Amino acid sequence: MRRVALLGSTGSIGTNTLDVLQGLSDRFDVVSLSAGRNLDLLCEQAMRFRPRRVCVSGDAQEAAFRLKPLEIEVLDGPEGLLDLATDPDVDLVVNGLVAGVGLRPTLAAVQAGKDVAIANKETLVVAGRIVTELAAQQGVKLVPLDSELTPLWQSLQGTPGQDVKRILLPASGGPFFDSSLDQMARVTPRQALNHPTWKMGPKITVDSATLMNKGFEVIEAHWFLGLPVSKIDVVIHRQSIVHCLIEFVDGGLTAHLSTPDMRLPIQQALTHPEKLCTRVCPLDLTQVGELSFYPPDFERFPCLALSYEAVKAGGTAPAVLNAANEIGVYAFLEGRIGFLDVPGVVRRALDAHGNGFGLDLEAVFEADRWGREKAGEIVRRLER
Ligand code: MG
Repeated sequence: MRRVALLGSTGSIGTNTLDVLQGLSDRFDVVSLSAGRNLDLLCEQAMRFRPRRVCVSGDAQEAAFRLKPLEIEVLDGPEGLLDLATDPDVDLVVNGLVAGVGLRPTLAAVQAGKDVAIANKETLVVAGRIVTELAAQQGVKLVPLDSELTPLWQSLQGTPGQDVKRILLPASGGPFFDSSLDQMARVTPRQALNHPTWKMGPKITVDSATLMNKGFEVIEAHWFLGLPVSKIDVVIHRQSIVHCLIEFVDGGLTAHLSTPDMRLPIQQALTHPEKLCTRVCPLDLTQVGELSFYPPDFERFPCLALSYEAVKAGGTAPAVLNAANEIGVYAFLEGRIGFLDVPGVVRRALDAHGNGFGLDLEAVFEADRWGREKAGEIVRRLER
């Protein structure tokens, strides 16, 4: 039995992970869950999975009251998350937390010798070097939980790096694939939240619309797979059927295809190298008919170029990329700036960043604070 702590259990990764774990209940034991403010769903999950502990970021007293009959210990806040991540009774931490709260629990889990399955993009974007070096030192496994990165990671296990010419990360292109710059300038939050394939939280849905999400995946792929950024390309693929492509030096190309369903990559990540049955609908290519691929448009989607720029610059540039983007996305969602201002905010913050903070964790946190402050100033100037 592998004992699992699931952080972020009420989000889209969390609910899909629980669905997978339910089907694998003979192999995995859900020891703990953490949730933000969705107490109703957390209690429902606690009833089904009977974890020993839960952590909430909202009303811990209310949670303790409601979970008392189940004898579940209730923790709260960032300290509680660290407790779950370092619990001696846990073998695997699944990190489905949203945004910046994901980094510290990942580091704590790795430090405590746990394997970590990571859906939280920000973790590797802002601190890829620190997290991967620590994992290598501790001899723990870091596994990506993502529709593109998980099959890539799985396909590349045991493949010598020199055999790989490049990898291609497919992007759906988001809701504005066809839109002109003019139209994109007038996009409303509601339009941006309408993703063609995946149902996700608002932050990541906007990141998908700007292609920042794909830029983050480029950075994650670099760290998870140990590939130079020059070997990582993005291709627009509207159907979301092909989830990754690997081009080998001999000219051959391998692709991973499936019905778009997060439960498949989650199960792949959890049971690798074994392949077990899932409830994922098999793919009928005759129903799909056609698969199309286009080069990405870096001009209409500058977030992609900014991501490459930041990871090439190294140091704390990716931390600033992430921080400025988060501020920009929330300002857009609040109607304070336009859709195309989001990459504008990131651009200006990156330009102002001297990359002189250093390379350690403190430098990452300092760059994060600086990036948020800088982006906040830029947003206020744009608002006027
Ligand atoms: Mg993805």
